[in-house]
Amino acid sequence: MHTKIASSLHVAIIGDALGVPVESTPRHELSLCSVKNMLGYGRYDHPQGTWSDDSSMILCTLESLLRGTYDIEDLGNTFCQWIFEGHWTPDGYVFDSGLTTFLALDRIRNGGLSARNSGGTSEEDNGNGSLMRILPAALYFHRLPTGEFIERIHEVSAITHSHPRSLVGCGIYSLLVKELLADGNKKEALRRATTEALDFYSARPEFKPELSHYMRILSLDLPQLPESEINTSGYIIDTLEASIWCFFQHESSYDTILSAVNLGLDTDTTGAVAGGLAGLLYGIDDIPADWRNSLARKDEIEMLIDRFAKHVASRQ
Ligand SMILES: [Mg+2]
Repeated sequence: MHTKIASSLHVAIIGDALGVPVESTPRHELSLCSVKNMLGYGRYDHPQGTWSDDSSMILCTLESLLRGTYDIEDLGNTFCQWIFEGHWTPDGYVFDSGLTTFLALDRIRNGGLSARNSGGTSEEDNGNGSLMRILPAALYFHRLPTGEFIERIHEVSAITHSHPRSLVGCGIYSLLVKELLADGNKKEALRRATTEALDFYSARPEFKPELSHYMRILSLDLPQLPESEINTSGYIIDTLEASIWCFFQHESSYDTILSAVNLGLDTDTTGAVAGGLAGLLYGIDDIPADWRNSLARKDEIEMLIDRFAKHVASRQ
């Protein structure tokens, strides 16, 4: 359990860093000159191993959850420390953040709102900004019964992303994480996760209309689709589909995150979200040592992940 949790978080962060230099590059350009290694510079002109908002918010979540019991206000404030003070950034500066996330955290820091009421609620607030950081919550709450588990995941998403579509997307991903922790058969895990999601959401009128947006996942058709059907914009549906699709095309963490990044556009987030799934199942041993070693603040990250994995693995 400890190894699975630690590997999942670690591969997510490596997937983010692998995608940063080519973020926003279209797929047809990457098909001519694909990413094969952990690169430096490129899109944001940062050295090799630089990770972005996805990892910053994952690390903030680990830190907050390790302070004691789950406290949504503490989590919201920790995100504010990141975006306004550069906490858990590679070098003290935030270079990549989404508008919905910024506005929500601004409502906490400068508007005095509770983290329970801060998230964006409009249809335009369905970027992948909460999906990219939901992994630690899914790991932390995985032993809760399904209904309670989904409620906690929704709360954590809603700090920044509160529209039902974002809540359902985070719910489906987190259920898949929960099921993969229980059993390493990914087909079975997806089947169970989608059944649970359909049972939960179709019984709730506020979520039921959103299910149509997730039908390619819920119908179990997604893994069989050709690459040309897979989109990788910053929209939560695209990121969730692309990540699950990559996870089903490959049998290793290395291949999963490389293929996720080479799908183009929101490369770092697709890499992080797919990496979380791959790390759970395939571990981190096939990731080249120099990729791991290149990560900014590597030692601090490894220590935090280790503490979190130990804490979660030891909880009943
Ligand atoms: Mg990013």
